[in-house]
Amino acid sequence: MTLVDRDLARLWHPYTQMQTAPPPIPVVRGEGIYLYTEDGRRILDGISSWWVNIHGHSHPKLNEALARQARELEHVIFAGFTHRPAVELAERLVEVLPAGLHRIFYSDDGSTAVEVALKMAYQYWRNRGEPERRLFVSLEFAYHGDTVGTMSVSEESVFTKAFEDLLFRVARADAPYCYRCPLGLERSTCAIDCLGSLEQILREEKGRVAGVIVEPMLQAAGGMIVWPREFLTGVRKLCDEHKTLLIADEVMTGFGRTGRMFACEHGPVRPDIACLSKGLSAGYLPLAATAATDDVYEAFLSDDRMKTFFHGHSFTANPLGCAVGLASLDIFREEGTLQRIAVLEKQLREGLEPMRSFNCVDDVRIIGGVGIVELAEDDGYLSDIGPRLYREFLDRGLLLRPLGNVLYFMPPYVITEEETNRVIEQMGEVLRGVDQA
Ligand code: PLP
Repeated sequence: MTLVDRDLARLWHPYTQMQTAPPPIPVVRGEGIYLYTEDGRRILDGISSWWVNIHGHSHPKLNEALARQARELEHVIFAGFTHRPAVELAERLVEVLPAGLHRIFYSDDGSTAVEVALKMAYQYWRNRGEPERRLFVSLEFAYHGDTVGTMSVSEESVFTKAFEDLLFRVARADAPYCYRCPLGLERSTCAIDCLGSLEQILREEKGRVAGVIVEPMLQAAGGMIVWPREFLTGVRKLCDEHKTLLIADEVMTGFGRTGRMFACEHGPVRPDIACLSKGLSAGYLPLAATAATDDVYEAFLSDDRMKTFFHGHSFTANPLGCAVGLASLDIFREEGTLQRIAVLEKQLREGLEPMRSFNCVDDVRIIGGVGIVELAEDDGYLSDIGPRLYREFLDRGLLLRPLGNVLYFMPPYVITEEETNRVIEQMGEVLRGVDQA
């Protein structure tokens, strides 16, 4: 039996309709931006393996950090115990995060980072004697994870439909999806009027809002929607005016993806709580962190046991993940990673913008190391153009996995200029083919 046969006999893959999906591709090795398959193919990882990889696969420095840590300590309970990698990573995160986020709470993945943030915000108000602040506000097109709490604050979609009775109520405000402006306005002349919907919710729900949760600057899974920075500063201002917490879900945008270390820097704004994962461990291991201000942290300091934050996961602050996270931050400094992303952004802009002239292309958006082409086909996430293009790019040795009709390219930052140009060329060829079909 081949590995694929054994897989098909035993495994259940995420988001996969098992009877109709093509068989999974067995990968035996990764190096830099490439994945190598059992049958000898080389595939360029154009989506950074679900947005987690930043410095390339199997980076020697990260491998070394991981091996060194494994020889010392693989894991230990994080209630009542601590270890050097967790402490040093927390110290380094506080240095690079927007100023004022001084407390780091570790967990395992993006969904738990957000789940922790929601519970923290909810209990913060309870501990502060304002238990009526129970409502969360999120945005249209939001995606914050697949656990019950994170699904609740995500947009209603095929991801959440089957579970709708399980989800708690949230209020949803307009997202600044400029290409499909909720108010029918033009970005060149508007005054970020779409903030009005958030403002109205905060006014109507006065004293009842626990927090506003957003994916700053780039709403990813909901359609790769790039924001005007003024929307971000506007959200912060409204949260201040209405005295509620701003939760920035930087699970996907963190660690350089939008061209800044954290997307909140585009404002710049300082959230009250920030959620990190994916690039935190450079895509090596499941690791997450929820960062909070002193004000949030202090609401949990009390002799009253009921004010404790009763939340924790078995693998909280896993030393292996923390050690890789530390080495990853070193790489940012040593390899000039943010400068690299700036070069990538320029190339994406120059290479993808002209694709607006294709009939099949509705919009082109670029931010940091992410190049996005929204296609005219519009059946949403289940549109069959996505799987069709996925197969076509795979045949060309390129892993791109469109979100419905939204094609995007988000490589590890170690991609060279030549490789980026080659991908842009391939995208152009495939889209030209769509135009001609
Ligand atoms: N938040 C955002 C913005 C994400 O993009 C994702 C995943 O893509 C998550 C949360 C959930 O992360 P995870 O899949 O690690 O649970």
